[in-house]
Amino acid sequence: MILDTLDAVKLQQTLALIKPDAYQHQQLIVYRILQEGFTIVHQKSFQFTQDQAALFYREHEHQPFYSTLTEWMASAPVYALILEKEDAIQSWRTLMGPTDANKARATEPTSLRALYGTDGSRNAVHGSDCSTSAQREINLVFDQQREPVTSTNTLAPDNNNA
Ligand code: UDP
Repeated sequence: MILDTLDAVKLQQTLALIKPDAYQHQQLIVYRILQEGFTIVHQKSFQFTQDQAALFYREHEHQPFYSTLTEWMASAPVYALILEKEDAIQSWRTLMGPTDANKARATEPTSLRALYGTDGSRNAVHGSDCSTSAQREINLVFDQQREPVTSTNTLAPDNNNA
């Protein structure tokens, strides 16, 4: 039965960010996201305040790179997307590649971090690491009472939706 098959497909959502260093490559990255079969449920351009960036990355607050990271993330606009797909969290992390862009170029040369990142800090994109984080990050970045969902599943990036 077709309905049984559809029921078995469990769609998952994740939060993706195009960080300040890759912001200018937004259209190419969105094109790649759609090519890989994600649905863009919602997307927007925005700039973190320092407090919001600190809250977003609070799990790293004891790391030596925390203040540099949060200051950088709040220094310029980022592009945020809620992505939906079966196994979206892991699929997006695979598409991102390893945290360090230099390692990504050595091991996953077609990944987004290999293509658009610089090093282990300026690495182009963010992705939630589990479903709890995904829910928390989606709520932090997108208002709970957001406007009616805009789904995009064609290969034409829509910049009017920011
Ligand atoms: N980061 C950094 N220096 C490090 C490790 C991480 O500046 O030594 C930054 C980097 O931008 C990374 C983010 O902190 O994307 C979050 O680190 P995490 O270990 O969670 O990596 P990710 O999940 O982003 O691959």
